[in-house]
Amino acid sequence: MKKFFSLSIVACVSLFGFKNISYSNEIKSSSLKIETTIPYLKDLVSKASCDSKSFQVNSIISMGNDPHTFHITPANRVAIAKADIIVLIGSGLENWLTKIKRTKNQTWLNVTESMILRKLSESEMSSHNHDHDHGHDHSHDHDHQHLEYDPHIWQSPSLTKEALLKISATLIKLKPDEKKNIESCTQDYIKNIDENIVELKKLSQSISEEKRVIATNHDALGYFAKEFGFKIYSIVGLSDESAPTAAQLKKIISQLKKDKINTVFLESTGNMRNIQTVAKEANVKIGGTLYSDSLGAKDSGAETAPDMWRTNMNTIVSALKK
Ligand SMILES: [Zn+2]
Repeated sequence: MKKFFSLSIVACVSLFGFKNISYSNEIKSSSLKIETTIPYLKDLVSKASCDSKSFQVNSIISMGNDPHTFHITPANRVAIAKADIIVLIGSGLENWLTKIKRTKNQTWLNVTESMILRKLSESEMSSHNHDHDHGHDHSHDHDHQHLEYDPHIWQSPSLTKEALLKISATLIKLKPDEKKNIESCTQDYIKNIDENIVELKKLSQSISEEKRVIATNHDALGYFAKEFGFKIYSIVGLSDESAPTAAQLKKIISQLKKDKINTVFLESTGNMRNIQTVAKEANVKIGGTLYSDSLGAKDSGAETAPDMWRTNMNTIVSALKK
């Protein structure tokens, strides 16, 4: 009897011991750390796997922040070094990532690689690339953006589907056990996007074609405009940072009059003071604020890409209908 007890105790200890070891191994091997650069990508990773616990996903740039003026912190560097997967937009949006060395066994997914992107016009390039130039010495090392192609794929339903499929394929490659779940979650989200496209096209067509013009001072909405049948009007010569001179203002106002622009839109990121000045001086209406460079915060109605398209479409349509 005594012998039986001692044997049972040994068995219990070794069983628990084994259980503890296998449990910690399970945690380590079952959950992959994913760092995405912007909340839009974080949302796509979460949706591609229906928030599976196999993936711990984070966004380096937090909600509502401007990806064009982001500066990396030491804490971001630590998080990137520890990640199994880095998901980025690419096409020059995240220049701050180019100097970071990839650690061994890390997967980097550049979602715009081999995508057919919209080429930016000269004026669009200067409105983006000069965001940081004011007051800086050009020779010093800075994360300037030099964009040639439009990186704002979060404003494109068709490119969002492409990005989602790339993310999905990467997750499956690294977690083959989750294949079934990932494939079905991805297809559900694609269906959701397709349903949104149909509804939003109907909404845009509810206003007459000549009224379908989105006027802003930074061309974040090029893809959205193209896919939903709007013209983009960019207010040339208006910078985000320095106030327009009297001569610039005069030129912008006469251009708006000539082009019969009577509504301009503000954007959720960036400095909107200058466009408000232009609207006031040119006596044009402000049609509302559009989510341009970031998804919206909780309860904003723009927490995911399809929600953002819908919220923006409602703002645009109700302003242009009047
Ligand atoms: Zn932008």
